[in-house]
Amino acid sequence: MQQQRQQLLDASRQLCHLGLNRGTSGNASVRVCADDGQPGFLVTPSGMAVDRMTVDDMVWMDFSGHWHGRCEPSSEWRFHSDILQHRPEINAVIHTHSMFATTLSTFRRDIPPFHYMIAVAGGDTVRCAPYALFGSQLLSDHALAALSGRKACLLANHGLIAIGADLHQALQVAEEVETLCEQYLRALQVGEPHLLTHEEMQEVHEKFKSYGAWARRT
Ligand code: 13P
Ligand code: ZN
Repeated sequence: MQQQRQQLLDASRQLCHLGLNRGTSGNASVRVCADDGQPGFLVTPSGMAVDRMTVDDMVWMDFSGHWHGRCEPSSEWRFHSDILQHRPEINAVIHTHSMFATTLSTFRRDIPPFHYMIAVAGGDTVRCAPYALFGSQLLSDHALAALSGRKACLLANHGLIAIGADLHQALQVAEEVETLCEQYLRALQVGEPHLLTHEEMQEVHEKFKSYGAWARRT
């Protein structure tokens, strides 16, 4: 489990390095069984700036909310737990208050298919989950619904969630969606951008099935 603790800390540092999180905002988790085989996950500690975190501050939790560690788990452990429990193909969850995703989230609107890379999140839009208090079960319920069939969603007046088969993939989705949010906000400053049709997005989803396969093999 020490290796996964290190990977989670590295991913949290990378989020800061990429400018996607600052200070104590945001959190991350990765699925990992306990030494006795009990299913669960590691999650970042609550209220601690990344530059102060060590591997031993990562908190292990089971799916009933029990935790072991010297720090309290992230206040958002409910959505980390619910996503990992309900999405067996997903092993890593990242939450950010990144600048452009958070700015867009205050409009409480889904991001439409203004760019083909929207397909990175798995659909024709990136949904925006309705507002709920941070750390609440209601926020987790809204996030889980907004993530249905998707790898990212906005959280109204709050930020972004990105998920993936591993931390590397979840980080890539978070970075890409933040880029899309920046592009969409800039486009909105000029007017209403043209949107891709459902058929055009279908073509992209189809092409994405093989896109990058060579890079994934190497
Ligand atoms: P934690 O420090 O408890 O992880 O909270 C940060 C956050 O982003 C809450 O939404
Ligand atoms: Zn947050």
